[in-house]
Amino acid sequence: DHRFSVVPTAPPDAILGLTDAFNADTNPNKMNLSVGVYKDATGQTPVLQSVKAAEQKLLSNEKTKGYLSIGGLQDYCDHVRTLAFGDQVPAERVAVLQTPGGTGALRVAADFLKTQLPGAKVWIPTPTWDNHRAIFDAALLPNDGYRYLAADRTSLDLDAMVADLREKASPGDTVLLHGCCHNPTGIDPTAEQWKVIADVIAERRLLPLIDFAYQGFGDGLEADAVGLRTVMDRVDEAMVCTSFSKNFGLYSERVGAVSLVAAQASEAAAANSQLKRMVRTNYSNPPRHGGAIVATILSDPELTAIWKSELDTMRNRITQLRQQFVETMKTTGAGHDFSFLLPQKGMFSYSGLTPMQVDELKQKYGIYIVGSGRINVAGMSESNMQSLCDAVASVLE
Ligand code: PMP
Repeated sequence: DHRFSVVPTAPPDAILGLTDAFNADTNPNKMNLSVGVYKDATGQTPVLQSVKAAEQKLLSNEKTKGYLSIGGLQDYCDHVRTLAFGDQVPAERVAVLQTPGGTGALRVAADFLKTQLPGAKVWIPTPTWDNHRAIFDAALLPNDGYRYLAADRTSLDLDAMVADLREKASPGDTVLLHGCCHNPTGIDPTAEQWKVIADVIAERRLLPLIDFAYQGFGDGLEADAVGLRTVMDRVDEAMVCTSFSKNFGLYSERVGAVSLVAAQASEAAAANSQLKRMVRTNYSNPPRHGGAIVATILSDPELTAIWKSELDTMRNRITQLRQQFVETMKTTGAGHDFSFLLPQKGMFSYSGLTPMQVDELKQKYGIYIVGSGRINVAGMSESNMQSLCDAVASVLE
């Protein structure tokens, strides 16, 4: 008898599994609007020019493949802090560790919270990125949902969110917030709503854990930090999980960071030592290449300027595709107004399509959308817009 015969097959990842199905689909007109990856007009996920230039520099200057320290590259970590906080928080109160992607940052944060703040729960928005719950569960970190999306599925239910944070969360609990470009809904709080949220967090002594995976994809680098900065105006302790997968197009290089803001420098140092322990028993130390790329770009004014304009291009393209989708849907005669998508931020939009309609799009047209109706707007293109909208119109009838 085989010992592994008792191991059951796990279900495929809801989103990555769809991509497997997409790749196997022989429909020549198939479209993948599921996985969250930016694509240009030619359907490619390009390597940014700024990244190529930084890699060339690195390649000619690289002297060693020796291990990084547990916390990663120091100048990288300094840039992470500045991008997120500007000069709002003094450096000595912030511990930053380079991690393998935003996912790595979330797992390190989860392990830290589980061991260092025992008994505290994490509150996550409903809905949220599926992996949030999965990561917290894997770390045995208690978690629960707070209401976020309104019943109309097109707006934030701020009253419900505030009520849950006020009445369900206990002082000392953690609240996970999407810094910008909420995944999966694309619905972010306005600047005014952030103030209300920040007030509740401060008043209830909750620890903000800000997942910051799309800075620059909403309204711009600084504008997208408004929520985080508003929260930091009102609290002196927080954690941030940064991902540079999207805004630097460095998906496969696994570039992220976990940051912890403490009320005092000595507390930040102690927390840093604990965060390092979490890393040491998990992956020991981060990979160099992606972090070195980001540090090279952000340490060079010319490369930084190129990167910023490339980021603007990605953001503007997503905004245009969203507008084009709304406009083209109007011309199909489906009688269904998608204007509610226009204020949504980032790559994703909740389309309001039902699981049945999503399934029909897949079966009939080879159009792959997540079952919740979440559409990756960046997966649309000028050339497939008309056929996409005709297909959506047909399943809406
Ligand atoms: N948080 C959110 C909200 C995300 O959408 C993602 C990526 N899909 C991540 C974190 C993780 O990013 P990474 O690929 O850098 O691990």
